[in-house]
Amino acid sequence: MTATDPMPMDPVPRLQTLQARIADAAKSVGRDPSEVRLIAVSKTMTHDAIRPLLAAGHRMFGENRVQEAQEKWPKLRAAIPGVHLSLIGPLQSNKTREAVEVFDAIHTLDRPKIAAALAQEMARTGKKLDLFIQVNTGEEPQKAGIPPREAPAFVRLCREDLGLAIAGLMSIPPVDEEAAVHFAFLAKLAKDLGVPGLSMGMSHDFPTAVQFGATHVRVGSAIFGERG
Ligand SMILES: *Cc1c(COP(=O)(O)O)cnc(C)c1O
Repeated sequence: MTATDPMPMDPVPRLQTLQARIADAAKSVGRDPSEVRLIAVSKTMTHDAIRPLLAAGHRMFGENRVQEAQEKWPKLRAAIPGVHLSLIGPLQSNKTREAVEVFDAIHTLDRPKIAAALAQEMARTGKKLDLFIQVNTGEEPQKAGIPPREAPAFVRLCREDLGLAIAGLMSIPPVDEEAAVHFAFLAKLAKDLGVPGLSMGMSHDFPTAVQFGATHVRVGSAIFGERG
């Protein structure tokens, strides 16, 4: 290596710093840091970028596309047991079979049709995924997720009609609004509905999300660097 070679990015120290910041944020509001799981969002990242984190013992990862996860993860999983993979991007109903095969959790459930397809596929395969319902707390037309007012009926449909356990609620606050307001709103909604998990917080706002009760934060660029 010459002096002009760029240093390869090492995600492991960044991950450790993040875990310390998550713990600090949790303790600042009297929460137990072990209640918060860090999902390393590895979308667009190669095997070479991901392997150091696996070697350091990290096991929870997130991908936003079914096809990319199918291409990347079977090989990584074959080498390392205990990987837990979350889908954090949209799911089409014609991809539910593949999604149930490759993922352990879905954070973007927002339609009865998808819920029914997932219920059917989980029954067929016997594989149980953790299901998070995405809520469009900012009611943004371009954003996925159900409007908050439809959340109670959708949770009821999932539980009562389809027999699905709902692991949590997920949201992505509007970029130009105070994230804390959305995190507080989602936490209240989850409490009202008796839903245990809260998937909220990304690279720029995860400490706030943890203070408002996040059980899963989804962090990409703060671990791997900016995506190309
Ligand atoms: C990409 C993505 C993340 C991670 O975003 P960063 O800003 O890189 O931390 C989290 N959640 C979802 C839904 C994403 O698509």
